[in-house]
Amino acid sequence: MVVAGAVFDEAGRLLAARRTAPPELAGRWELPGGKVEPGERAEDALVRELREELGVAVRPLERLPGEWPLTADLVLRVWTAVILDGTPRPLQDHDLLCWVTPAEAPALGWVPADRPAVEALLAAVTPP
Ligand code: C5P
Repeated sequence: MVVAGAVFDEAGRLLAARRTAPPELAGRWELPGGKVEPGERAEDALVRELREELGVAVRPLERLPGEWPLTADLVLRVWTAVILDGTPRPLQDHDLLCWVTPAEAPALGWVPADRPAVEALLAAVTPP
């Protein structure tokens, strides 16, 4: 399983991260996260990945219902999260971070698995 964080700031903007690898995903945007290790809880993996990739401490809030296929044996699950400590910066896997409003988010060039996840996220958190 791959876990990713839908990190919102106090203004309601969503954190997007631009990947540097692999070549087919480089330059595309994702919700930051990564693979759950054997025996690891999903929320713990999310906290670990965001500390490693962004240098921040986060608290996972709620899992977004649903999961999105990545490969034959990997799915993406998403949790909303808030930053408890630190300012996110791209430490590994990414070369740029961006806070986007819900209105701006659909226009980003998301990695394929993340686009439907972001659409579900925005449908869940944005008032009609
Ligand atoms: O970040 P990491 O390399 O550990 O992610 C594992 C795999 O999951 C990568 O191949 C990446 O393409 C994919 N992934 C994704 N969307 C995310 C996070 C990871 O498609 N938000």
